[in-house]
Amino acid sequence: MALEQQLRVPGPTPLPQRVVRSASRPMINHRGPEFAELMSEVCSGLKTVLRTDNDVLLFPASGTGGMESAIVNLLSPGERALFLSVGSFGDRWVEMANIYGVDAVKLRAPSGEAIDPEDVERILAENPEIEKVFVTHNETSTGVTNDIPAIASVVKGRGKLLAVDSVSGASCIPLETDALGIDVVVTGSQKGWMAPPGLAMVAVSPAAYAAAEKAKLPRVYFDYHRERKFQANNQTYTTPPVSVMYAVQEGLRMILEEGVENVWARHARVGAMIRAGVEAAGLRLFAAAAHRSDTVTPIHNPAGTPEELSQLTGLLRTRYGLVLAGGQGDLKGRIFRIGHLGFIDEGAVYAILASLELALSERGLLSRVGLMVPAAQAAARGAAAPAETAGVR
Ligand code: PLP
Repeated sequence: MALEQQLRVPGPTPLPQRVVRSASRPMINHRGPEFAELMSEVCSGLKTVLRTDNDVLLFPASGTGGMESAIVNLLSPGERALFLSVGSFGDRWVEMANIYGVDAVKLRAPSGEAIDPEDVERILAENPEIEKVFVTHNETSTGVTNDIPAIASVVKGRGKLLAVDSVSGASCIPLETDALGIDVVVTGSQKGWMAPPGLAMVAVSPAAYAAAEKAKLPRVYFDYHRERKFQANNQTYTTPPVSVMYAVQEGLRMILEEGVENVWARHARVGAMIRAGVEAAGLRLFAAAAHRSDTVTPIHNPAGTPEELSQLTGLLRTRYGLVLAGGQGDLKGRIFRIGHLGFIDEGAVYAILASLELALSERGLLSRVGLMVPAAQAAARGAAAPAETAGVR
């Protein structure tokens, strides 16, 4: 029996003790001076990490709420807009747009692949009326990271608005909001920010505010202009999730103490270690090599049937306390996913891999143990992984 659970799904992510303590403080008046200080620090920290001088608006919502905010503030009924999808969360944005009566043009990359910026160029050339483009930065369902700089260069080169869902990317993977001219960035507290779920954080550019003035979709809860007015006084329109904001405040302090680039480098290192370890056991990574995410690693089902896969993840949970995620939508039963974002370091990677290797072996899926951790160690040192693979049954 494990003494403590290791939560390694791609969000919610583990909470550092500092964050837990911070979030368990007594409640305060959300219209009072203590809250104003909290809000001011949170917004300023978010701007630093998201590399933007734009407002970062706060909504009591999960990431999906942030995604909806971008639809209702930027678009009008019947308006044609381009959605770049590489998985379930990209598809979710399209579904939402359809429900709101937007004429959504969807470019969907094959599962495991990223968007080709040349396709974006072509679609925008063919559809000059499209003024807004929506893209997922890091697709949590497939473990694919899109090339946002290349996509932004195409979209902004044509003077269009760009909204990016970086719910599972921001703070972990480089995202230069202002340098790339990104108009809306959506993220959520339960991912790289090391806080509980409950706060959607949305960076909004002046051009996005201007578009919101013209956009005709109805909006109440997620109205950027109203929220902006409240934020000017360090308040939110509705009652905010104060405890989650305390958590985000402490998570931000930790990120800023470590340094934003160091946090990015840590995720790159951890991602490389996980991939090296998994491949050393002969397991197959789901995402195409050129676009693999440094925050989540989907792995083909090594067990054969979906039932055997759930026995493997069940064993990991009960014996080793390691909680991994399954696949979503049509990937259910076909892959499992390791989340490695936020509060994660090299030591945690060794624990994940060693537990996974033992569970694979115990389920009769691995003929040899002892290769995954050394491969990760080699990756951490920047060296090539050992050539041997264990061979999946
Ligand atoms: N977008 C991405 C890339 C995500 O990973 C998620 C959640 O996993 C969401 C959007 C939706 O966020 P939430 O589940 O917080 O609503």
